[in-house]
Amino acid sequence: MNDLSLASISLETLQKCMKTWGLPAFRAKQILDWRNKGILDLAAMKNIPQQVKVILEEKIQVQPLQLVSKQQSSDGTRKYLFALNRKGQAKKHIETVLIPEENRGTVCISSQAGCVLDCPFCHTGTQKFEGNLTPAEIVAQVLAVKQDLLTDPMFEGLHNQVTHIVYMGMGEPLANETAVFDSLALLMAEDYLHLSRRRITLSTSGLVPQIERLGREAPVNLAISLHTAINDLRNTLVPINQKHDLQKLRKCLNTYPLAKKRHITLEYVMLADVNDDDEALKALVSFVNPERERVNLIRFNTYPGSAYQGSSSEVVDKFAKGLISKGIRATVRRSRGDDIMAACGQLKTAKQS
Ligand code: SF4
Repeated sequence: MNDLSLASISLETLQKCMKTWGLPAFRAKQILDWRNKGILDLAAMKNIPQQVKVILEEKIQVQPLQLVSKQQSSDGTRKYLFALNRKGQAKKHIETVLIPEENRGTVCISSQAGCVLDCPFCHTGTQKFEGNLTPAEIVAQVLAVKQDLLTDPMFEGLHNQVTHIVYMGMGEPLANETAVFDSLALLMAEDYLHLSRRRITLSTSGLVPQIERLGREAPVNLAISLHTAINDLRNTLVPINQKHDLQKLRKCLNTYPLAKKRHITLEYVMLADVNDDDEALKALVSFVNPERERVNLIRFNTYPGSAYQGSSSEVVDKFAKGLISKGIRATVRRSRGDDIMAACGQLKTAKQS
């Protein structure tokens, strides 16, 4: 794989490269202006001469991703399946989701092809782990969605912008630490995507040392895939708990820096007869710090071959009321994109089968 990628290169580096390649340095800014809009397609860069494009193709990875398929749910959610464009390697696939709302466009990005962490209820966990994404492959998902919105008349004048990013797609972001920290820097860079840390959320299953680093170096919004506050049960549901248990996680969450009026989100997928009874509620109530945290109850999208079923609506509502009655902010996440299998990892499996 070419180490230089258009999706992640800085202006300074590209200017230096242009000189080395015998090309005028001012072209670097023109090329990156296109890229920053979401255009990585050289053919669409109208002010760039053909001779420059030929050399770029040769010297730098231009498109880290190839679009394999795109599906749109009846609620507007779009799901993209991409193949990683790695020369000489078998095709690996990742997913990206766009959730358009009236005043915002949220892109849910993947950080790994598959996941090593094996949470038994999670669809991505059942797939073969195929490796970490590079910073360019992570950021290129955002660019590809930007390009899709730019060229889609449906979005004209509407929310044709990507305003929020969530690291909640395939993979455990903090298990791909170096690339994810680099990608965060690219998303926030003033001369690139320039997103505020308040508009980026990273969701992790709880890798404590890496959460601490995130707090020190790039304190974006934090979401924790908690799923239970009972330590023994969490050892099974979220196996990373065997290494970083609830006590360690609690300590680390207490000191994570929060932006003004922000909170940590504790994600809790509601699994029938697993983590939805009174004992589970009691444990969760005593775990949550209501001053700094809120709970997001997630309806479970079951999938073929899953050993788990989602809790019924009545049980989810009762659980939410139980939290609220104890002064804990709790919301039930509306499931989006059910009709296109928008739960983590499902599109990829559909393609493979
Ligand atoms: S829930 Fe997250 S950490 Fe666990 S297997 Fe799925 S993608 Fe990996």
